Amino acid sequence: MTEGGAGLSQTMTAATLAFPAPNGKRPDVLPSAQTTAPITRLHLPVSPACNIDCAFCAQAFDRHDHHADQASRLLTPTQAIELVARARALSSTLSVVGVAGPGEPLATHHALDTLAKVHERWPDLALCLSTNGLMLPEQVDQIAASGITTLTVTVNAVDPAIQARITPTIAWRHRRLDGTAAAKRLIRNQIDGIAQASARGIVVKVDTVLIPTVNEDHIGDIAERVAYAGAHLIHIIPLVPQHRFAHLPAPGLMKRYVARADAERYLRVSNHCQQCAADASGTAPDDGLTAACCGGGIWTEQILSHG
Ligand code: SF4
Repeated sequence: MTEGGAGLSQTMTAATLAFPAPNGKRPDVLPSAQTTAPITRLHLPVSPACNIDCAFCAQAFDRHDHHADQASRLLTPTQAIELVARARALSSTLSVVGVAGPGEPLATHHALDTLAKVHERWPDLALCLSTNGLMLPEQVDQIAASGITTLTVTVNAVDPAIQARITPTIAWRHRRLDGTAAAKRLIRNQIDGIAQASARGIVVKVDTVLIPTVNEDHIGDIAERVAYAGAHLIHIIPLVPQHRFAHLPAPGLMKRYVARADAERYLRVSNHCQQCAADASGTAPDDGLTAACCGGGIWTEQILSHG
């Protein structure tokens, strides 16, 4: 198959958004029962570090050698471009390329450098990026210039007291902030960043991790605030109990239903989430593209990144 296989042009265009249009259904992120065309996505694990410390996340705070012994999970921008080229050769339906980790994509320059090169070489691919939002206001122009059309911002609280329980520490302008000072800065940047991205025509989805006993009664407040800022849809992700939240229960069906109903009062709620690893690829469910591209033996774990 040559680059830009025939099926691709039939299913996607350069202006295609990787998330649903706010007022219409798109095949690329809908549950399989609603899918009308095969869409293949590729996550590029190029982000080596993070700038905040989420209690549910096993990615160590500011650990620059993250997964250094698992090369398949962390690629250089050059390796990532080679991976996209292999994926294009293997899949005529490759349509969406994104960066969601394994660290925070805006904490280093790797993600935007990579996606800008992907956009330059394959302008028909839809590009997406997931972020915790801390650096979003400062980098939103660069994000738009990189060809990214869809953005996921994880917002787990808009109340600093709640946010401080979830993310007690951040690194901001070479300083460490703790507690509610950290929470206020993070929330402010997330809301400002969502507003700025939305004003630039970028489709913004908000991911919210539903954390029993911490933010389960706060979901409506989050949805209302991010909707007002300009977010287009929200996705509620059930907590995977691990790290400092390993003692908490995963939310059951009823809690998830209530959270979705709370969010739906303000925003369209997205159904699609595989809780993908940062290097996930293929159609959903996994069709083996990761192994085909990377040679198999890929180490995976159930992670819960901001992406
Ligand atoms: S969930 Fe994302 S933003 Fe939070 S610590 Fe993990 S990598 Fe960083």
